[in-house]
Formats: sequence, C-alpha cells, structure tokens
Amino acid sequence: MRVLILGGTTEAFQLAQRLAGDARFDALYALAGRTQKPLLPATTCRIGGFGGVDGLARWLVDERVGAMIDATHPFAAQMSRNAVEAAAITYVPLLRLQRAEWQLQPGDDWRIVADMVAAAAALGEQPQRAFLAIGRKEVAAFTAAPQHSYLVRAVDAPNAEGLPPQSQVILQRGPFAFADELALLQHNRIDIVVSKNAGGTAAYPKIEAARQLGIPVVMVARPAIPHAPECADIDAALAWLEELLRPEAHCG
Ligand code: NAP
Repeated sequence: MRVLILGGTTEAFQLAQRLAGDARFDALYALAGRTQKPLLPATTCRIGGFGGVDGLARWLVDERVGAMIDATHPFAAQMSRNAVEAAAITYVPLLRLQRAEWQLQPGDDWRIVADMVAAAAALGEQPQRAFLAIGRKEVAAFTAAPQHSYLVRAVDAPNAEGLPPQSQVILQRGPFAFADELALLQHNRIDIVVSKNAGGTAAYPKIEAARQLGIPVVMVARPAIPHAPECADIDAALAWLEELLRPEAHCG
C-alpha cells in the first residue's frame, strides 16, 4: 500500500524509517522544503508543496495513495487543513500523528497567547532580554516590540530584514539537552522565553530550564485545525495502517 507521510517532525521521520523496512508499504515522505539540509528517511522523498487542496487531491489520485498520515508540526496548520479537505475529496484515509501538548507543571510561569503578534505584545513595555525559540518564519512579528533585545534560535538563518533591531541569531537544531538549555539561558541573561506549544521531548528542555530558573515563558497556543482521526505515537500509526491492510477494512 502506498502511504503518503506529510513530514517535518521527528515522529514523521521515525515512522518513515519504520515503513522503509516494511515490504507491505511503499512510503512517500513529503516535505515543504523549508530547511536547507533536511533529515531524509530511506523512503522515496518529495520536496515542495502540492499546490493547495486541489493539487494534493490530484496527487493522491495520480500516485494511487492508499493512506495519508499527517505528521507535520502542530503549527503547520495550513498543511493539516489541506490534508483534511483532500482526504474528504478523494476518500483516502487520513490519520493525524500528533504529539500531546505540553501541560503547565508546578513552578511554571506561562503567559499563554494565541499567536506571535500577541506574544510580542506579551513581552510588555519594559525592555527585556527575550529568547525566541520559535523557528525563523514568524520572528518578524517581534519588530513591533523593538525595545527588547532578542536571542533568536533557528535551524536556518532568518531573513535579516525581518529581524528586530537588537537581535542575535544562533543556529541550532534539536534535540536539546537540559544542561545546555540551562547554560544558554544563564549565559545570555535571558529574562523571558517565547515558545510554541510544540509538545514532545526534543524542544522541552528549555521549558524545564526556564522553570528551574524562575523565568517566565510566553507560550503560543496551537492553532485550531479541523478534526481528523488522531494518534500520538508511531506504534498507533502503524497499527492503523495494518488495520487498513486487512481485507475486511475494504468491505461495506
Ligand atoms: P504550513 O503553513 O501548514 O504549510 C504551508 C504550505 O507549505 C502548505 O500549504 C503546503 O504547500 C506546504 N507544505 C507544508 N508542509 C508540507 C509537507 N510536509 N509536504 C509538502 N508540502 C508541505 O506549514 P509550515 O508551518 O510552513 O511548515 C512546513 C513544514 O515544516 C511542515 O512539514 C512542518 O511539519 C515543518 N515544521 C513546521 C514548524 C512550524 O512551527 N510551523 C516547526 C517545525 C517543523 P501546498 O499548499 O503548495 O501543498
């Protein structure tokens, strides 16, 4: 069975690697093409958008895809919406593989906001040293709050014109270790952290480090996306695929 994995996360990569070694499946791994050196699994890979809902629907039919797994990042809302709509048009079964959200723990000081514009406003009037651990796409929202100085962490360098005036960029790719995150916050005298509620373990140590140091976190909530059947781990995604292979799954 041909399986399209909409990728870009650790879980997507791991699932693709599992399917790569399984003769029952012919997995295709799709990436938007945002990072310069993406981690690619040992499956057929496809880099670049499909051309919206219609493009994806056409592609699913042309490639005779039997199942689609949306394992994109929880903040890749457009792709997830497109997947739901294209699945409805083509009747290709869709499963969303999405890690659970981080939950507030004792000692956490979170200011939960809806988006990056609200996150920039939540930093307040007084100048602060903020750690932006949000990727590079939405850093420009913080040009609206130029009174703060920023430590911006991303996998690839953000566009210079979208950076707030007092910015320093570090290029790093997760997973991150607690001791390193603690040292980073301390050495850079960070007053406040801005994070997306990505979930998972790879990016969580900065939240633990902020908790340990008593530093507040502006936590950007996940965007709303339409309902789809969901699972939180790779084993459950595999079980769902195996269920589709059973002959009875195609009856009635
Ligand atoms: P997005 O805003 O939801 O998607 C924008 C467009 O990019 C989509 O309409 C689609 O183009 C294309 N696209 C997105 N994901 C794709 C995929 N896996 N395969 C093929 N095309 C894809 O997504 P985004 O926020 O730009 O994220 C892009 C990728 O980076 C995703 O794979 C995501 O998992 C990963 N990522 C995102 C974040 C984040 O915070 N957003 C963080 C880490 C990793 P067409 O309409 O032309 O098909």
